[in-house]
Amino acid sequence: MTQHVMVLGGGVIGLSCAFELRRRGFPVTVLEQGRCGGQASGAAAGMLAPYSENTEQPDPFFQLCLQSLNLYPNWQQAVKDVSGLDFEYSATGSLYVHYHEADVLAMRSRQSWQDDYGAASELLDGRRLRELEPHIAPEAAGALYYPGESHVYAPGYVKALEEACRKLGVEIRDGLGEVQVTRWSGGAEVCCPLSGGTFRSDKLVVASGAWAGLMEAALDMRIPVYPIRGQICAYETPDMPVRHMVFCSQGYVVGKRNGSLVCGASEDIAGFETSVTSKGIDRLKSWNGKLFPFLGGMRPFHEWAGLRPATHDGFPLLGASSRSDSLLFAAGHYRNGILLSPVTAHVIADLMEGRETTGLPLGAFAPERF
Ligand SMILES: Cc1cc2nc3c(=O)[nH]c(=O)nc-3n(C[C@H](O)[C@H](O)[C@H](O)COP(=O)(O)OP(=O)(O)OC[C@H]3O[C@@H](n4cnc5c(N)ncnc54)[C@H](O)[C@@H]3O)c2cc1C
Repeated sequence: MTQHVMVLGGGVIGLSCAFELRRRGFPVTVLEQGRCGGQASGAAAGMLAPYSENTEQPDPFFQLCLQSLNLYPNWQQAVKDVSGLDFEYSATGSLYVHYHEADVLAMRSRQSWQDDYGAASELLDGRRLRELEPHIAPEAAGALYYPGESHVYAPGYVKALEEACRKLGVEIRDGLGEVQVTRWSGGAEVCCPLSGGTFRSDKLVVASGAWAGLMEAALDMRIPVYPIRGQICAYETPDMPVRHMVFCSQGYVVGKRNGSLVCGASEDIAGFETSVTSKGIDRLKSWNGKLFPFLGGMRPFHEWAGLRPATHDGFPLLGASSRSDSLLFAAGHYRNGILLSPVTAHVIADLMEGRETTGLPLGAFAPERF
């Protein structure tokens, strides 16, 4: 008998799981306390950058990120085809800029293991860097170029996912206020104190982002997920002066197709507060000017913040509970939830079909490992 699945949370992770589950024939309901995509997912810069984001070693998290990058071309096409919406999937490649000749050693050691995992990277000197990015600061000494990294327009991507889910027949219930889990074994049940409503299903997928940690008592387990605020801003530029995603040790600049330049992002602990601070944005502005001097005299036209779902060990909670057949987790994707959305959806849908996704060290993400 086909199992009915409830997904708790309508961010990129919950919607991706719902999309993939529905494509495989499961009846799915998404329960969202606010607006779908209204939290971290709609705030993200949309970079799909496993090499630039994982600089140390090919650990299980890097492998998860890489598998997701490889799924993206087909995945984004499927979301686009079903939704009828475009979200600017752009295979621009990225540049990780360094300022000192001595940094070349670190770049080389990174390159030596990442190229074994398909990075096909190229170490550029200053002259070659300036050919690719003519407006880069004169102080930039060179860069590591990753041709395979790409990006999407994150708010558009989440909107397309929501639309694709609706078109496939996923039931989306948003604006519910906090949804509380009241049963997670032998089937699932949740209640919505605001409306007094109750929902039941065979399976429950917890995809509640930075709020997952608030469910420790209801689920009777440790869930060390907590919010890390990211502040970010965008500049309006008429002539697309930045061609790639450009990273440095202090931040990044991504040019979007509409001409805006998205520059991020700070990391601070502020509970569930999503306002921006002048300290956070000023720090971004200062680094943006060091990367691209023409930004030094400009004011961002948009400043915003979102809450990244961080975990104690930096890995998401991904997979089935060891204590109940009814409970699964897809939470804690921290800085890479946009990138990780396809692989997360595949892992959850595979588990629901009773098979394991091959080629991934999923034990490292076991929900009850804490
Ligand atoms: C500034 C910034 C830049 C970023 N840039 C990138 C990037 O370039 N690339 C990348 O891959 N990632 C990026 N990220 C990270 C990425 O945004 C997150 O990892 C991802 O959005 C997490 O998705 P999620 O669905 O788990 O969380 P969310 O998008 O936060 O969604 C969780 C949803 O669950 C709902 N919810 C919570 N509790 C309940 C409840 N009890 N009942 C019902 N609903 C509930 C919330 O309202 C929310 O809508 C960035 C994040 C930030 C903040």
